[in-house]
Amino acid sequence: MVSRVIPVETFDLVIFGGTGDLARRKILPGLFRRFLSGQMPPDSRIIGAARSDLDDAGYRNMIAEAIAEFGGVESKDSKGLAAFMGCLHYVPIDATGDTGWARLFDLTREGVIQAFYFSVAPSLFGALAERLHTHKIADDRSRIVVEKPFGRDLESAKALNDTLAAHFKETQIYRIDHYLGKETVQNLMAVRFGNVLFEPLWNNHYVDHIQITVAETVGVGGRGSYYDKSGAMRDMVQNHLMQLLCLIAMEPPAMFGADAVRDEKLKVIRALQPVDYHHIVRGQYDATDTEPSYREDAENPKSFTESFVAMKVNIANWRWAGVPFYLRTGKKLKARSSEIAVVFQDLGHSIFKGDEARHRNILSIRLQPNEGMDLQVTIKEPGPGGMRLIDVPLDMTFADALGPDAEEVPDAYERLIMDVIRGDQTLFMRGDEVEAAWAWTDPLIEGWERRNDVPKLYETGSAGPEDAMMLMHRDGRRWRELKG
Ligand code: NAP
Repeated sequence: MVSRVIPVETFDLVIFGGTGDLARRKILPGLFRRFLSGQMPPDSRIIGAARSDLDDAGYRNMIAEAIAEFGGVESKDSKGLAAFMGCLHYVPIDATGDTGWARLFDLTREGVIQAFYFSVAPSLFGALAERLHTHKIADDRSRIVVEKPFGRDLESAKALNDTLAAHFKETQIYRIDHYLGKETVQNLMAVRFGNVLFEPLWNNHYVDHIQITVAETVGVGGRGSYYDKSGAMRDMVQNHLMQLLCLIAMEPPAMFGADAVRDEKLKVIRALQPVDYHHIVRGQYDATDTEPSYREDAENPKSFTESFVAMKVNIANWRWAGVPFYLRTGKKLKARSSEIAVVFQDLGHSIFKGDEARHRNILSIRLQPNEGMDLQVTIKEPGPGGMRLIDVPLDMTFADALGPDAEEVPDAYERLIMDVIRGDQTLFMRGDEVEAAWAWTDPLIEGWERRNDVPKLYETGSAGPEDAMMLMHRDGRRWRELKG
């Protein structure tokens, strides 16, 4: 099956922070792949802007190197690369100064779609938004893209939203959470709402519990001092895990449209019950003979910041009353694995005897590795040994299902940037969602800080602290194995 690439309209995309890590590692290699696929029109312009003193040629060299390093096999397409380089420009600009804006004004064109990617520290958003208007570069049709972190608590998130709202309407603001750009996450909606099979079972009559796991094998080395001010709750739960929870738990929207979907997600966040402290486990990875501890990585020998969190969450609505959602995320764990597992209830009555009666359906949605889904179903073990039942996965790994001619699954960033150009906000967070998520996490974090809560140590390469296992065992359940 060959997938269709539908070109977007010609655009001018200004990347503030165009020399930074995110621009070089993700945004520009992603745009290059969209260019090669034919989705990005060749008369579009990508304009890097940062303080570094570069000209167009210097910037093109920098980005060619970045594409060679991070762009994948396509970077060997030298004709394509030369054509892509023709779309690139650079303007030296200090977000807080007044030089460079006139040249940016000249480079951006009337009549094409204009987007401004704020790939800089959030403290610069206000200065950028203000200058884009003072210099008449942005208008009420322009789009801006902003990156997490969207604040570090409710108060700072509100301040950030107010800063942006002073210059742009909500319909112009694209808050990126790259988890929402993953193929599987969108497929979750396609599977739920595009098939008759799942929706009737998607409730407390048939679902026993749901597990959401985002596990990493890397530690915080390299960005330890930044991470130490944040921790797993702020860095992962408040945004990525919460977004996954919303998509899995939301009511069917009346249509697949930005506000219809986001209204339903918001209702989920507002229906989250406060979490009892007995239902949360915080952890910190310990040193091994060869690897440093969290505290060494964070260069803070007294740090109480968590690199792991596991929790049991309840949603107070008709659909999910009584169905626990178990969330866990952590660093330096056994495997790099992100997954949502919908564990269905036991059969009400089984016609099979003994052990043969104990089988469960599990729908597992894998974000990484091997994006895809599988549904565990029970079948008869082949052979003459009587009615013995086994569980087998009905595998829906996308790369296999779509065949060798399918277009490579685009990276989350490139897909989301194309959505910005198309003007589709469905997979971006709205300001009220971000605030509602902080309103739920703030009291938990404040409680830990007030009580000087000390995270439990866990072994590097394990599945997290023992208490996280107990969180499940107490309920007669167990975490799914972490498999890379
Ligand atoms: P970075 O590597 O530190 O890059 C920052 C960029 O901002 C550089 O291009 C820098 O260039 C520019 N800059 C700094 N001060 C400036 C000023 N006064 N005026 C104009 N440009 C200025 O940071 P990053 O990792 O790319 O991250 C960018 C944003 O994305 C941050 O908000 C970060 O939290 C967020 N983010 C990053 C990642 C990631 O994977 N890297 C993931 C999620 C979110 P000059 O020094 O040349 O000015």
